[in-house]
Amino acid sequence: MRIGVLALQGAFTEHRRKLDGLGVRSFEIRRKKDLENQMDGIILPGGESTVMGKLLRDLEMADQIRNMIINGLPAFGTCAGLILMAQRIKGESAYLATMDITARRNAYGRQLGSFRTEEQFGEEGKIPVTFIRAPYIEETGNGVKVLALSGGKITAARQDNQLVTAFHPELDEDNTVHRYFLGMIKEA
Ligand code: GLN
Repeated sequence: MRIGVLALQGAFTEHRRKLDGLGVRSFEIRRKKDLENQMDGIILPGGESTVMGKLLRDLEMADQIRNMIINGLPAFGTCAGLILMAQRIKGESAYLATMDITARRNAYGRQLGSFRTEEQFGEEGKIPVTFIRAPYIEETGNGVKVLALSGGKITAARQDNQLVTAFHPELDEDNTVHRYFLGMIKEA
């Protein structure tokens, strides 16, 4: 198994370290040519969605990544990655727009910009969740399964081959969410 990690900006190293720890090979996606590599899944990391979105367009990678995900490539977006994948972003235009969710950016406000807590993740049990100027999911379409809530807001969800979290599992010791994503790849 080999996973491509979008490495334009943000927390891509942390995802790669996590995959290393789980014995999964990964590589960095920095330019269009990197998309020619064989990959079983793609991770879109946290960072700044506006910057990543612009780079994806400037480097002419957005359409190809979008098509790969639409055609079934397992994709995992954390935080800014969630925003990139959302079909709708409150008050802003969408980027890859692959997943039937509405995201609200910086949704927890400035005071609560960053915080850590524990939440139930799907049927997998309680996990630590770290939020950094996080979005939340305001609405989900029919095919979307809610996997986690924080303060009543949706913070993790899955639609077929797509998984998103508003929090950063790559920054915590716990491996539940990455293992869940690897499970999705094995299913695919
Ligand atoms: N606030 C960032 C954005 O809107 C997301 C923050 C993060 O990825 N930690 O892109």
